[in-house]
Amino acid sequence: MQNFTFDNKTKIIFGKDKEQVVGEESVVYGKKLLLHYGGGSIKESGLYDTVLNSLKEQNIEVYELGGVKPNPRVSLVREGVTLCKENNIDFILAVGGGSVIDSAKAIAAGAKYDGDVWDFFTGKGAVTECLPIGVVLTIPAAGSESSAGTVITNEDGDYKRATGSLLMRPQFAILNPVLTYTLPSYQTACGVTDMMAHILERYFTNEKNVELTDRLCEATLKTIINNAHTVIEEPTNYDARAEIMWAGTIAHNDLLDTGRIGDWASHDIEHEISGIYDIAHGAGLAIIFPAWMKYVYKHDINRFVQFANRVWDVEIDLNNPEKTALAGIKKLEQFFSSIGMPVSLKEVDINDEHFTEMAKKATERWPLGNFVKLHADDVEKIYQLAR
Ligand code: NAP
Ligand code: FE
Repeated sequence: MQNFTFDNKTKIIFGKDKEQVVGEESVVYGKKLLLHYGGGSIKESGLYDTVLNSLKEQNIEVYELGGVKPNPRVSLVREGVTLCKENNIDFILAVGGGSVIDSAKAIAAGAKYDGDVWDFFTGKGAVTECLPIGVVLTIPAAGSESSAGTVITNEDGDYKRATGSLLMRPQFAILNPVLTYTLPSYQTACGVTDMMAHILERYFTNEKNVELTDRLCEATLKTIINNAHTVIEEPTNYDARAEIMWAGTIAHNDLLDTGRIGDWASHDIEHEISGIYDIAHGAGLAIIFPAWMKYVYKHDINRFVQFANRVWDVEIDLNNPEKTALAGIKKLEQFFSSIGMPVSLKEVDINDEHFTEMAKKATERWPLGNFVKLHADDVEKIYQLAR
């Protein structure tokens, strides 16, 4: 096990009606707040009114910026930065999913920076200061509610890039599973896939003595697998929604990272797809992760055997570990299909036209992955396997 510091400051406030305390949680950070949200789901559900009332009760002055799109754009982030600078905003409240939270994080860092916010995503600038952020989560998926990262798309060149800083980690996140009842099944499934991917990125490590985090990963994966069909078939099943919501946070709050180094190539390989084709990140991962596994499993067959056996209950064939490893990958692929996810690029009408360009862009800063290092030609082969 490697040395580590586990430092997750995000206060999690979990359960029914908990969005009603958002005012008292926010006022701690100041009286001028930017309310950031997406395309309208929070207005339809009534959450917008609940949040505004709670903020007004604390006499918080509310500025608003809605319209965050899935795969959030840097143009809206720039608008938010200007708004914060011009009005001396103290605090940003993100009400929504990963896209809204990521956009809020970029605005919060940009508001304290003299240059262009995109600098954080190219390595030209570093986050040294950041406005505090709070979250009311409406979709369990990205785990951004307690992660230190943000992923933003630059429309100018279709670059989807991630950056991170502990300063961007939200101060609090309110998680009420009831708020997720209105999610369409496709979005629910995309969320399930993303949170599983966050665990898998950490699970496939070269670190050998990490039994506790291996088993924490496996338990979280199993919980997600056990509850995924229920939340899709019974969208108002509180207990199943609660399991999935908490799992989404655990998957990405860095607990499952402790003592190990994760891989993260699949996320970078996927970002090129959602950056160019604007598909849901979760759907892209359902396509890319099994393809990545097929490309790298020989690097450590035993780890793939463990995954097949402990997560999918595949019996270990001692005479043919490769067969067991491949059976685990197949199980994952079948699971994604069973919840309505695409598992090939063909299913989302993506052909090989941009494979070379995407592979080049994905690796232009550095080779991808830690479990196995991948260069442009490897990434292109993974896109081919995902066809
Ligand atoms: P999302 O893009 O925030 O939201 C997806 C869709 O779900 C939106 O159209 C949204 O509509 C709708 N929606 C959200 N909550 C809803 C509800 N309760 N009822 C009905 N509709 C609802 O989804 P996400 O998967 O959470 O975020 C994806 C983004 O996060 C991607 O850009 C991905 O790359 C990024 N990501 C970030 C991290 C990180 O750590 N920072 C990690 C992984 C992924 P409205 O807009 O109308 O609300
Ligand atoms: Fe993700």
